[in-house]
Parts: sequence; C-alpha cells; structure tokens
Amino acid sequence: MPKVTTDFNDKTIQYEELLHDFKVLLKNNSLKFTIQREVILETLYNSDEHLTPEALHHLIQNKHSDLKTGIATVYRTLALLEESHMVTSLSFGAQGKKYELGAKEHHDHLICTECGKITEFVDEKIELRQHAITDELGFKMSDHSMQIYGICKTCQNK
Ligand SMILES: [Zn+2]
Ligand SMILES: [Zn+2]
Repeated sequence: MPKVTTDFNDKTIQYEELLHDFKVLLKNNSLKFTIQREVILETLYNSDEHLTPEALHHLIQNKHSDLKTGIATVYRTLALLEESHMVTSLSFGAQGKKYELGAKEHHDHLICTECGKITEFVDEKIELRQHAITDELGFKMSDHSMQIYGICKTCQNK
C-alpha cells in the first residue's frame, strides 16, 4: 500500500500561542498590534485553504466590514509573516501567490495549473529520502517545500 497521507487539518499550535508570537514579531519590527492585524492572523488560522491576499482580504471584509482593513495592510502583514516563517506561500506564476499559516503538520503540495486546486500530501519515502540526501551532503536542513505542478483529475476529464 502506498503511504501517502492527505489530511492535514489538525493544528500543531494553539491560537493563543500563535497570537503571542505574532505580538512579539510586530514589536520586534516596531509595528503596532492592531485589531486589523489580529483579524488577518485569525482569519488565516481559521481557514483550511491556501489563500491569495485578495481572497483573504475578501474574507475579512465579509466578516469584519466595520474594521476597514486595507488590502495594503494584508500585503504588508503577509510579507512580514512570511519573512519570519510563520506563513508559507505557494507560487502560481502570473496569478501570484497563495498563503497558508505554518500551523499545520508539514506537507507538500500538488497544484493544478488549470483550476488552482491544491492537494496536500506527505509521502514517507520522500521525506526520508530528503533527510538521507541532506545527511549525505552534510547539509543541515531547516525546512523544505515541494510543489508539483500539473492538471488535476477533474480538469483532465473536462
Ligand atoms: Zn484542476
Ligand atoms: Zn498546504
């Protein structure tokens, strides 16, 4: 049987802990902790999807229209979170990037270039091989990401 896992919705970090790290991050960058910034973090945390900045902004506007969170704030906050490795991004070429919070178990991605569907997976052998490679080459791995681009089942059948 192939050992491919595809369910990663369990969080590896509590929201309170994440919020604490976020406050420290803002402080270290001389930025104020604002309700708009917290809502960006909270919305990312509660979404199981990989979001473009525009989609994230849309979600926030729908749920917290009173806050008037600007798209520029979303971009800046995502950039800051990515720099500090609290979020990771997946590149979609000309269509830009999709972001996810690093609060899930490690996983890799299949990305459909037709419809943008993302499938998350982990394969034991691939993980082990990567460790074997870095060990053999005397490289200290801190993280890795793998994205496989192609056409999903649904789009193949169109
Ligand atoms: Zn597709
Ligand atoms: Zn993912």
